[in-house]
Amino acid sequence: MASIQLKNIRRDFGEVKVIRDVDIAINDKEFVVFVGPSGCGKSTLLRMVAGLDQPTSGDIVIGGKVVNALPPRERDVAMVFQNYALYPHMTVDQNMGFGLMISKVEPQTIRTKVAEAARILGLDKLLDRYPRQLSGGQRQRVAMGRAMARDPAVFLFDEPLSNLDAKLRVQMRTEIRALHQRLGATSIYVTHDQIEAMTMADRIVVLRDGIVEQTGTPPELYDRPVNTFVATFIGSPA
Ligand code: ADP
Ligand code: MG
Repeated sequence: MASIQLKNIRRDFGEVKVIRDVDIAINDKEFVVFVGPSGCGKSTLLRMVAGLDQPTSGDIVIGGKVVNALPPRERDVAMVFQNYALYPHMTVDQNMGFGLMISKVEPQTIRTKVAEAARILGLDKLLDRYPRQLSGGQRQRVAMGRAMARDPAVFLFDEPLSNLDAKLRVQMRTEIRALHQRLGATSIYVTHDQIEAMTMADRIVVLRDGIVEQTGTPPELYDRPVNTFVATFIGSPA
């Protein structure tokens, strides 16, 4: 069970209130997209779920457990970033297994998990390559493989497709959704791209200036936007 609750989350950076009283409840196995303009606090929220940042106040609850004080490694989550964050001096194989290695997982288990992820992502033949020898799409798959190898209950995606060309972006949307389904994971996907949000989400959370403007399924937001910001941002005719 990996439901996620963000309860009354605030995050101040000095005087600046970046996240203000955010309440979001995500169901087990749901694919939720946080969408909003650049600078609205999407990455800050996601980083707090990952454990890379802490709320100024409020609780992060994963699978019924308050995780505020837990370091990233002890949370059942894996994050995929926009810039891939691969290690340039490691092969695809090593990149995917590294997280498990430093968690002291048995080498045989690491090989099995990496092989499984590579097979699912179509990376079997690229395991000995270095990141510089890969295309953008292949690098993004390695980043996903590295997250998958950890077998997390929760996947966090921070604008993972921004650096890819338009055609590949469309293809990867489908792949990421399929992966989510196949792994039975709970996913939070962050993007500033409305189309990505509308095509991928079970449910969308629209953010502006650190607050939640509206939460709903894509048709709900399209048909019944609560204000002109949501209407304009989602692109509905209202
Ligand atoms: P988004 O991902 O939606 O583009 P971010 O979460 O990255 O937005 O940033 C939201 C706001 O918080 C921005 O105004 C950004 O400058 C500010 N911010 C983010 N991280 C820090 C930090 N470590 N220190 C100060 N301000 C920050
Ligand atoms: Mg961001």
